[in-house]
Amino acid sequence: MIRCMAKLDDKFCWLAVVARDKTADGQFFYAVKTTGIFCRPSCSARRPLRKNVTYFATAREAEMAGFRPCLRCRPLAAVGTDVATATMIDLSQYLEAHADEPISLAQLAQRAGFSPFHLQRSFKAVIGVSPKEFQTAARLKRLKKSLRAGDAITGAVFDAGFGSTSRVYEHVDGRLGMTPSAYRAGGAGETVSYACRKTALGLIMMAGTERGVCFVQFGDSETGLLDQLKREYPRATVLASSTEVSPLLDAWIAALDEHVSAGGPQPSLPLELRGTAFQIRVWRFLMRIGEGEVMNYTDVAKGIGQPKAARAAASAIAANRIAILVPCHRVLRGDGSLGGYRWGVDRKRALIDTERRRRVEKP
Ligand SMILES: [Zn+2]
Repeated sequence: MIRCMAKLDDKFCWLAVVARDKTADGQFFYAVKTTGIFCRPSCSARRPLRKNVTYFATAREAEMAGFRPCLRCRPLAAVGTDVATATMIDLSQYLEAHADEPISLAQLAQRAGFSPFHLQRSFKAVIGVSPKEFQTAARLKRLKKSLRAGDAITGAVFDAGFGSTSRVYEHVDGRLGMTPSAYRAGGAGETVSYACRKTALGLIMMAGTERGVCFVQFGDSETGLLDQLKREYPRATVLASSTEVSPLLDAWIAALDEHVSAGGPQPSLPLELRGTAFQIRVWRFLMRIGEGEVMNYTDVAKGIGQPKAARAAASAIAANRIAILVPCHRVLRGDGSLGGYRWGVDRKRALIDTERRRRVEKP
């Protein structure tokens, strides 16, 4: 395996680019001056001239130097993600953009160049739910949006692709959500469902609304975690989820457990970020730090375009309530030491170590 660690070795990197060496992916990125685009070493795009190539240790640095990510090899997808993962993320975005159309598994499979069986499995492994469940969630999301915008309920239901009001109530009532009228009434009676799992790093509680995951925390006991959840959502109805009641949440926590305990891919789940505009900006930025990469508070402040706000960025990071999926563990002190972690420095170290190991061992 070619490794470009502290300083990128021009010769090694170039050999990897020429060989389109998959094992070098995640170790460095190359940018092409003449096109303004940067790639993973294994990119299938036409090989550039050596004199036009610059190497970067991270995708972030390439971006900061003004290069745009290649559309073919998707260098911004989390490190450790392969092209199949990027394809599944693409498909999920496609489903979201076309939530009002019926799209069959066969159509999706054809689009991705997979067999329907393979597609169903890969989609679930990467996204955490089946394509069908994802479509339903995407439709619900669209419905909420049009209801918030003040559309009449029946019209909104049809626009969101459900076809009839009774079908949407089946989904909304039975799953994580509330009825459309309750939503119109300003969210009174909002339901937050939760589930717990023992993972390799300890007990995790995940909670979600119908819009996505809003809470992922480690703790010592289910009752302690539940108290905390209730403190954060004092006016919501908080319910233990069962597989029948919220299959989505159940699939989501299983995917997260698979990631934490068995090194599965980090699931890309819909999140409901609740906080100030500044906090949300910081959290969204954290989600762009790749697996196995780390930054410090100053980098984050610069990354959100407020280089003087390192302190405020640190507070926003400390206020994160969605462990792992909003990867606040990837932010270290300026001197490279671990710094704090809401759920214990040992867990932070374990998360970083595992990600680094996966990055190096990647086949
Ligand atoms: Zn590329």
